Amino acid sequence: MSNKSTKIHKSEPKNTLLTDLNDDLNRHFYYTLGRDKTEGSRLYLYHALALTIRDRLVAKCRTTNEQRAKQKTKKAAYISLEFLMGRALGNAILNLDLEQEVNKALKQYSVELENVSNAEHDAGLGNGGLGRLAACFLDSCASLSLPVVGYGIRYEYGMFNQSIQNGYQIEQPDNWLREGHPWELSAPEQSKRVKFFGHVESYTDKAGRNHRVWVNTQDVLAVPYDVPIPGYKNDVVNTLRLWKSEATDEFNLREFNEGSYSDAVAQKNLAEQISMVLYPNDSSENGKELRLRQQYFLTSASLQDIIDNWIAEHGENFEEFSDFNVFQLNDTHPSIAVAELMRLLVDDHEMEWDKAWEITTSTMAYTNHTLLPEALERWSVPLFERLLPRLLEIIYEINARFLGEVATKWPGDSDKQRELSLIEEGDVPQIRMAYLAIVGSFSVNGVAALHTELLKSGLFNTFYKLWPEKFNNKTNGVTPRRWLAHCNPNLKSLISNYIGTKWVSNFDNIKSLRRFYDDKEFQDKWYAVKKSNKEQLVDLVKQHCDVEFDTNMLFDVQVKRIHEYKRQLLNILHVIHLYIQICKGNTENMTPRCVLIGGKAAPGYHMAKQIIKLINNVAEVINKDDRAKPYLRVAFLPNYNVTAMETICPATDLSEQISTAGKEASGTGNMKFMMNGAITIGTLDGANIEILESVGKDNFFLFGATTEEIHSIRNNYDPISIINNSENLSAVFKLIESGHFNLFEPHIFDDIINAVKCPSDPWLTAYDFDSYCDAQSLVSNAYQDKKQWLRMSILNTASSGKFSSDRTIAQYSDEIWQLKSDAKKITDKEKLEKQHA
Ligand SMILES: *Cc1c(COP(=O)(O)O)cnc(C)c1O
Repeated sequence: MSNKSTKIHKSEPKNTLLTDLNDDLNRHFYYTLGRDKTEGSRLYLYHALALTIRDRLVAKCRTTNEQRAKQKTKKAAYISLEFLMGRALGNAILNLDLEQEVNKALKQYSVELENVSNAEHDAGLGNGGLGRLAACFLDSCASLSLPVVGYGIRYEYGMFNQSIQNGYQIEQPDNWLREGHPWELSAPEQSKRVKFFGHVESYTDKAGRNHRVWVNTQDVLAVPYDVPIPGYKNDVVNTLRLWKSEATDEFNLREFNEGSYSDAVAQKNLAEQISMVLYPNDSSENGKELRLRQQYFLTSASLQDIIDNWIAEHGENFEEFSDFNVFQLNDTHPSIAVAELMRLLVDDHEMEWDKAWEITTSTMAYTNHTLLPEALERWSVPLFERLLPRLLEIIYEINARFLGEVATKWPGDSDKQRELSLIEEGDVPQIRMAYLAIVGSFSVNGVAALHTELLKSGLFNTFYKLWPEKFNNKTNGVTPRRWLAHCNPNLKSLISNYIGTKWVSNFDNIKSLRRFYDDKEFQDKWYAVKKSNKEQLVDLVKQHCDVEFDTNMLFDVQVKRIHEYKRQLLNILHVIHLYIQICKGNTENMTPRCVLIGGKAAPGYHMAKQIIKLINNVAEVINKDDRAKPYLRVAFLPNYNVTAMETICPATDLSEQISTAGKEASGTGNMKFMMNGAITIGTLDGANIEILESVGKDNFFLFGATTEEIHSIRNNYDPISIINNSENLSAVFKLIESGHFNLFEPHIFDDIINAVKCPSDPWLTAYDFDSYCDAQSLVSNAYQDKKQWLRMSILNTASSGKFSSDRTIAQYSDEIWQLKSDAKKITDKEKLEKQHA
């Protein structure tokens, strides 16, 4: 799995071992794991099967690396604090096209692949959309044969597991490695040292050059664990390299000799803390020192790895380094990479500052993921000074030179200096990490058209004026392998029967489905697939929520992290509105619905946790009321994760994408639902806008204030008068305030009520309520016309071609990274040969 192709043995073992999957499975089961027939538990079978598949991945990874070493291709490193991978087995079987062989081999153990797959824990090394995007990107890079390495942290504990007790979220640690992680291979010989603390000294060398040296540091070891990333049926296997922190073996000798052996060993804990746990905050900053240590640990180890690989091939000659390397920073989290690359080049490789800066600013590219001010990372200068003293010096130097450039552009404008400085003044000065990323990168991109425009006109406007050429958009996407072919096998077969199978690797082809949107036979089959997917979701909801869903009803789903800007609150207010109609007997022509809401709240996010409690209490009241049963059922699904989404999105009729306009950078859940034939009810926010453009307004339920309207509304927003003037919303508030949903828990929802009624409510929930209800009644009417709904559903899938992450990654590759795919190289070469022939 290592990038290095040094051969230890003259002849490596031939892949003859890998001809018969059945033999390999038995060998791993009986010998590698040492089990016998009585121990055919799904866990051991899962491990034996994973090792069997891994052998094949390792073989392909080796040839992928050998080919690339020969071709000397430019490589990209995707550096991310999060990779929300989910399960690997089913995806690998799909991408390697081993389904039939695996099913045959499992017959002798009398188990179904599905049961074996269920033994795998999700690799939950991410919070939500940002981490899942990184995972989709890795699949697309491999499937497009692009030389891209993912770099992340091998958290011992990933995203917490959520359960619900008395309606409240309970967090449990996610010990995902406990039963072993068969996909990874460690390479301890390639460990890197990462420095912390200490201080900086200077010395002058014989040539009279001044040097800064970072000394007396407390070092931590970064040990790499490589996870194979298979491309779709193309023999390419890329690598995700995850770093684990370990103590160096150098104990504090003085302590050791003074007899404090155990104290010295206990120091190990400090080092090992770094990769212990993922911070469970989505879209909000984390001022903790340990988080900064994680960021520096990942960045330093990854950059050292790439530089060591470079030196192994080119020696200390960095002339062409930026022709062969590019780094994509996934959000501001790894932005210290800008300063760290400078440190490595200037201090460790003795390069002149200007030369090093040239390399840094032609290899770093930054993706911004959010406009929420609370997510913009800033670190206090005193913390930096203590933890990373040499990096602080470098940031000061970058800033001084940058502010010189600002002064040239805007002479004498000290406001501009203050506004753009990497250091924010104040009682405790802060380092603006996003600014460091912008100054040090040649590319700054947003993740949907609207988001990029808002970056240019708002948050980063002055930087845009300074360097308009740096800014570009890359609308997010999701991989159609996991999010259609793998998670919705019946739809995959139906689609392939009508338009062939090319769409799986060339998702543009999905548009040929358009031809059949009005075809009765196709519609009937489409309906049958949706219905059977809904049965699967019924089982899941029954098992985890003890609520009975009914496949004949409209499945209305909102699953995503719980956040005020995503407005799960607006959703539950509408549910209460429907319940009031039922109680009043206004049920004539009502479309029966099952409403599913799921998602985790950050453990310290009070309001998000209150919203979960409200949803659960409302669900409990409605589900207990016999009057509601024929029309409305509500469930909160605990522990929403990648694997849950694989059952949810194929079964959804209505996709809820109802964030306050201008707040959701892109969204990717919206795309997974669309691919699987759900129709969106949504605001003009993030990628919803592009979904609406692709599918047309007749096949999308649009509502709510636009970003522009929101700006003017905020000035004199009066939610109380909005509530008073809305018959529906005032009835909803009356019911909540009467304590109907918290009879024995007085006042628990006061915070929520006050938040909606507050004139400074940033999310404008009351403002959008009536518009949302109107759109929802259009949904209800549309669902009653089964044929019409099926047309819309088919057209949504058929119009989802743009939202493949293959399209996104092709744009990153062409417009930012300038990579050539291995496959393209070969075809180019063939073309040349043909020309010459
Ligand atoms: C796709 C996905 C997300 C992102 O959902 P949004 O609706 O875009 O916020 C979050 N979590 C999981 C598990 C996902 O699969």
